[in-house]
Amino acid sequence: MTGAALPRTTLAHLPTPLRRAAGLDALVGAEVWVKRDDATGGAEAGNKIRKLEMLLAAAQAEGADTVLTCGGTQSNHARATALTCAALGLRAVLFLRRGDGTSSDEAPPPASVGGNVLLDRLAGAEIRWISRAEYTRRNEVMASAQEELRAAGAKPYVVPEGGSNGLGALGYVEAMREVKEQMGDRPFDVIAAACGSGGTAAGIALGAARHGVAKETWAFAVCDDAKTFETAIARIVAEARALDPSLPAPAKVRVCDRARGPAYGVMDDAQRAFLASAVRASGLVFDPVYTGKALYGLSLAVRRGDIPPSARALFVHTGGLPGLLAQAASFGELA
Ligand SMILES: *Cc1c(COP(=O)(O)O)cnc(C)c1O
Repeated sequence: MTGAALPRTTLAHLPTPLRRAAGLDALVGAEVWVKRDDATGGAEAGNKIRKLEMLLAAAQAEGADTVLTCGGTQSNHARATALTCAALGLRAVLFLRRGDGTSSDEAPPPASVGGNVLLDRLAGAEIRWISRAEYTRRNEVMASAQEELRAAGAKPYVVPEGGSNGLGALGYVEAMREVKEQMGDRPFDVIAAACGSGGTAAGIALGAARHGVAKETWAFAVCDDAKTFETAIARIVAEARALDPSLPAPAKVRVCDRARGPAYGVMDDAQRAFLASAVRASGLVFDPVYTGKALYGLSLAVRRGDIPPSARALFVHTGGLPGLLAQAASFGELA
């Protein structure tokens, strides 16, 4: 079977723009181009809907009526799933982790929690709050819920954390074909993106190799360490190549965990100041959970000499705006 033979649902507004962002050059230290995957849609926008185009098509092909997925309290993936399921007439059940950032691990976040959670609720998704401990066993938790739902007569389909499996990653192989059409003959020196579950990096690496977009892609870890993501990305790459055996070996992936900050979803002062400067310099909005850390990480990599200042860098802007809006208080005098 080839990738083209797999079903794909149209959810995203494509192609997203590819733009030069000269205002970021001085901050980052290289020539910055941005793939605007923060503009894949309206409120559902971001990198996740490229994966959901593949995953929800598979769900529909098996006749599913309910989609289960999981994420952190302010999961962009859960929000994108909630909204796209509403659009397709599917029921969404979200397993969200309590205790991220300042929320308590004991009690479910209050109804006043905004950002992505507000959108999840408006979309009519069912939220099941789970503890941090339960979240480490998220796949078992979702599998047992799937059994329960099945017993109750539903047809449930499980989408893994971040939509990050081989099938979801094929959405990013396709994104690199889009970049190839937009960029002309000259490949980029590096591609850079935030990494939270690895599917985006896996798809970028495969697509970059297939379409000659760049020889090297950087994945900036926002939570776990580099080793964890190297393993995850390799697994997802292998799954994707099993689904589409015509895929070549991936471009080189460099996972960097130096910009992940104090914790998932939490920035240090230097990162926050960098994020504010980047917005002012470009008019592009970065978020404190993913894209702000990734752009900061890219600037550190140039500063360290791991990426030369002459490099043309393609930054994949993966979205995340609702997560920023849920963190107004942490920006203090910067905003
Ligand atoms: C999920 C997410 C990422 C990370 O993508 P993965 O495929 O999970 O590694 C990056 N940026 C934003 C805004 C996200 O929501």
